Amino acid sequence: MPVDVLPALAADVDALAAVPVIALPVASLMALVEQTAPLAARLDGVVSRAVGELQARGGGVVPDQDGAPLPLPAWLRDAAKVSGREAGRQVRTSQALRELPAVAAAVVDGTITAEHGRVLARLVGRLQPHVLLPSQGALLEVATRTDPEQLGHYVRHLIATWCEPELEADEKDPIDGRFLQLTHKDNGRVRGIFELPNADAEVLQTVLEPLARRDDGADTRTAGQRRADALTDVFALALRHGDLPNAGGSRPSLTYVVPAEAPSVLVDPDRLPSCPAGAWTGPATPATVAQLLCDARIDVLHVDAAHRVVSLSTGTGDITSAQRRAVATRDRCCTAKGCSRPPAFCDVHHLRARANGGSNDAANLVLLCCRHHSMWHRQQLTLQDLRVPWLRVPQPRAP
Ligand SMILES: [Zn+2]
Ligand SMILES: [Zn+2]
Repeated sequence: MPVDVLPALAADVDALAAVPVIALPVASLMALVEQTAPLAARLDGVVSRAVGELQARGGGVVPDQDGAPLPLPAWLRDAAKVSGREAGRQVRTSQALRELPAVAAAVVDGTITAEHGRVLARLVGRLQPHVLLPSQGALLEVATRTDPEQLGHYVRHLIATWCEPELEADEKDPIDGRFLQLTHKDNGRVRGIFELPNADAEVLQTVLEPLARRDDGADTRTAGQRRADALTDVFALALRHGDLPNAGGSRPSLTYVVPAEAPSVLVDPDRLPSCPAGAWTGPATPATVAQLLCDARIDVLHVDAAHRVVSLSTGTGDITSAQRRAVATRDRCCTAKGCSRPPAFCDVHHLRARANGGSNDAANLVLLCCRHHSMWHRQQLTLQDLRVPWLRVPQPRAP
């Protein structure tokens, strides 16, 4: 019985497990990894081959303790202590590799890794066996020259080239499976996950990636932060210029309600507590409100104590499109040093806040992209950080 070798193998693994890694010099640790990892991959191959054999013999079932049929994945889940999903994947791979005997043998003898084998197994059932079988030698040659990810690309191209319906079916899955889910957290923030089919993902990457590049050497944002900023920029652009569908008869606009006065008592039983709040995200910080008021169309609504509307004036002190064009022509891009976001991606910022009497004169306005505008109002950016050569005499910093 070949399984007679198992006690000896277990003893060897025990010996390996007893190696005191903490005491090993770096060179020995590297040697340990280099020599053990391929053995582990070969063992994976041995397991996979046995699972494939079980699948072939029992037609997908094995006998349980009482001899009743048990689905192979369910048994494997318990036997290998893996998740049901992983067990299913292992059974499918093992079954597929039976159709590629040379590939299965290469995994077992260590020519390629089990991960390479899994990637090549994707070809089974997609390419015709009479094409696939004689190609195993060439496939193995590619596999030995590439890592599993590169091999995955190669396999995808192979399927796309030789089996168009498969590619279509492959694409249909993500099209049916597309989704975007936004979760509103208690603090008003939004967390999202999404999945896009290839063609849509191509559009996303094409727009997002250039916007997510580093500004310059001093840009310390993480890649994730840069992509998040890029996403915000794209949506802010759409809001500024896009022909978005109407929302209640007018173009959609950000809506924040900002009370005119701070409340005088902590709890007023006759009124709801009032604080600045966004329509979707709830309470907003003073910095956020200041940033929004900086480049916003402001509607002023007076209500009396009984919440009746007393008066309404709209578009108070709007920046005109002529003023906006003048500032864009002068500044050409975000004025934060190192940033080159074009005007379409920029707010017009008031150096002296409108609330403090700052005017809409070009001398009081500069272009700032969403990120730098937000940084200014959070006191993380000052005049010294801006490219404003026309501003000969620095003006007092707006609060
Ligand atoms: Zn501003
Ligand atoms: Zn900027």
